[in-house]
Amino acid sequence: MSIGIMVAFGDGIGPEIMQASLKVLLAAGARFEVEPIDIGERVYREGNTAGIGPEAWDSLRRTKVFYKAPLTTPQGGGFKSLNVTVRKTLGLFANVRPCASFHPFVQTKHPVMDVVIIRENEEDLYAGIEHRQTQDVYQCLKLITRPGTERIVRYAFEYARAHGRGKVTCFTKDNIMKLTDGLFHRVFDAVGEDYPDIEKEHWIVDIGAAKLADTPEVFDVIVMPNLYGDILSDVAAQIAGSVGLAGSANIGEHAAMFEAIHGSAPRRAGQDIANPSGLLLGGVMMLVHIGQPKVAEAVHNAWLKTIEDGIHTYDIFRGGVSKRQVGTMSFADAVIERLGQRPATLKAVSYDTDRPVSAPSASPRGSSDKRIVGVDLFVEWTGGEPESLARNLEPVAGNDFHLEMITNRGVKVWPNGLPETFTTDHWRCRFMAKAATTGAVTHSDLAALIQRAATSGLGFIKCENLFTFDGEPGYSLGQGQ
Ligand code: NAD
Repeated sequence: MSIGIMVAFGDGIGPEIMQASLKVLLAAGARFEVEPIDIGERVYREGNTAGIGPEAWDSLRRTKVFYKAPLTTPQGGGFKSLNVTVRKTLGLFANVRPCASFHPFVQTKHPVMDVVIIRENEEDLYAGIEHRQTQDVYQCLKLITRPGTERIVRYAFEYARAHGRGKVTCFTKDNIMKLTDGLFHRVFDAVGEDYPDIEKEHWIVDIGAAKLADTPEVFDVIVMPNLYGDILSDVAAQIAGSVGLAGSANIGEHAAMFEAIHGSAPRRAGQDIANPSGLLLGGVMMLVHIGQPKVAEAVHNAWLKTIEDGIHTYDIFRGGVSKRQVGTMSFADAVIERLGQRPATLKAVSYDTDRPVSAPSASPRGSSDKRIVGVDLFVEWTGGEPESLARNLEPVAGNDFHLEMITNRGVKVWPNGLPETFTTDHWRCRFMAKAATTGAVTHSDLAALIQRAATSGLGFIKCENLFTFDGEPGYSLGQGQ
C-alpha cells in the first residue's frame, strides 16, 4: 500500500539533495506518494515569522510523516527556528541519530564506531522559559518531567530491542542537579528493570562526553536530556567522519520527521556538489518507520557499497582512498546502480527483523502526600551586607515562618557567610514554616508572607514554594549539596 509523505525541498542545497534522495528511494521500490509543501526561507520572507503556513500543518496532520531537507533560518530577531516549532507543535519527543564510521573508506580517528544517540527533544532548557530578574541576573528554567523522561527512556530501550542492540547508556549531571537530572537517572534505572536482556549503565555527562569523544566504540545506544543530546549528537556525527553523512529521525505520538543533521550549506547550493548521504540515510530511517524495512535495507546496503567502491562527493573525497569524485546526482545514480548489492568490507545492514518503534506512553500520575513547608522568596537588593538584608526580612517572616537562610547564586551568605563570597543583586531568602510538622501551612499563609514583603518595600522578584512529597523535600537544600 502506498502512503502519503509530506516533503519539504528546503533551502540552499536542500532541493538538490532531496531530489537525489527521492530518486534513490523510489528506484529501490519505496511505496509512498510525495506531497510537496513550501516552508522555510521564502515563507519567512513573505512575512510569516514561523516559516510555515496553515496548509503545511493540514498536510502533516493527514500524512503524519515528514521528510525534510535542510532549511535556512534567516539571521536576525523575530524569526523562529522552524525545526523547534515543528518538533514542539507535533510533540516529536525523540530525536534519534545513528553515528557510525565507515573506515577505511571515510577518514576517521574512530574506525569501529557505531553509536545511536537518543535525545529528549522537547524539555530541559529548551522549554524557552527565560527571564531577566534584576539588573545583573538572568535565568533560564530547566524543566524535566516524569512522563517526558519515561517516554524517552522507554523509547531508547524499545529502540535497542527493535534494532538488536545490547546496551543502553544514560548521561546526566545528577551529582549537581539532583532533582532534575536525578529524576532522569532514577527513571532510567526504574524503566531499565523492564529490559533484563539489555545491559544498562549511567555516566556523569562530563566524563561520559570525554569517553564518547575518545573511545566511542564502548557505547551502543545513549539516551540523554535535550541539551546534552543536542551537543553530543553533533560531536558523535563529526568524529564518526562527517556531519554530511548522518541522518536523523524525530519521533512523536502523532507524527514523525526525517532529515539530515546538517544545514542548508548555502555556499554549496546550485552546484550539484553536495553530499546527499545524510538526507538519504534519514530516508532509510523513514522507510523502517513506515513499515518498509526490506526497501530500507536495499538502499542502505547499496549506499554502503557505493562508499566502499570509493565513489565520493567532494566533502569525503581523499586521494588514495577515494576512486571517483562525483556530484550530487551522479552519487545518487551510483547508489541506484548498486541496488541489490551488499558491501564486502563494511558490515551490511539488516532491517529484516526490525520493526517500527511506536511512541510509548508514560505510566499514570501517582498521588503522593504533598505539603507546603516553606517558601524561597527571591529579592533584588543592593543595600549592603547580608546581615542587613536579614534584619529587613524579619518582619516578613511573621508568626508562621522563620528565616532559615539567605543564598546568593546558590551560595549561603547568611547565617555564617564568608566575607570573601562575591555577591550580586539577586538573593534567595528561604522561609520555613514553623507549623511544617503539622502540615498546617496554606497558600493563604504564603500570600500573606508576600503581602508583608510588599508592605516592607522589598523588591521581590518571585517566590518558589517549598513542598514535601510523602515527607521527602521537593527542593534542593542549597549550596549545591
Ligand atoms: P551547514 O551544516 O549548512 O554547513 C556546515 C559546513 O558543512 C559547511 O562548510 C558546508 O559546506 C558543509 N556541508 C553541510 N552539509 C553538506 C553536504 N550535504 N555536503 C557537503 N558539504 C556539506 O551549517 P551552517 O553553515 O551553520 O548553516 C547554514 C544554514 O542552515 C543556516 O541558516 C542554519 O540555520 C541552517 N541549518 C538548518 C538545519 C536544518 O534544517 N535541520 C540544521 C542546521 C543548520
